[in-house]
Amino acid sequence: MGRQTDQSASAATPPPLRAAEARMLTVDDPWAALEAVGLKTHEGRDTKPRLGWLFIHQSSRRALRAVMGDRLLADALAAAEPYRRPRHVIALTRVLDFHEAAGACCGVLVPRGRYHWHLGAISKLSDPVFAIGKQGLWIPDKDLFDAILARNPDVAARLAAGA
Ligand SMILES: [Zn+2]
Repeated sequence: MGRQTDQSASAATPPPLRAAEARMLTVDDPWAALEAVGLKTHEGRDTKPRLGWLFIHQSSRRALRAVMGDRLLADALAAAEPYRRPRHVIALTRVLDFHEAAGACCGVLVPRGRYHWHLGAISKLSDPVFAIGKQGLWIPDKDLFDAILARNPDVAARLAAGA
């Protein structure tokens, strides 16, 4: 089958981001919720990200390290608590920058040899959408992507505005 290239003027404005171009990142609990509320703005990963839009999906798996933290982390966890939703897409963010971990920037956050992703412009989904998720970075199927946009008009508006 050939690719559809017809774009008649009467057609609805195509979304600026299509499902195949979207990227989802499955993040362990509670880190995903901490990202959703903007208290965690980095990721340490084995792979390079794609710059730009990134949806945060919360894993069903809990990072045990996170429950043994200090007072600061306890406060952050309390703030993020209402947004913890296992197996849901919970936030939209942007990957602003990344580099191979080294030196002062990454500190103890990202071990040497991994990639340090810098996230910004994070917004929570007002209506999180269920998804099983996958390890690491993945591409949503069209049904999931469409459901996110349909149930979260603010997200659709952000994508349409491109910022
Ligand atoms: Zn760094």
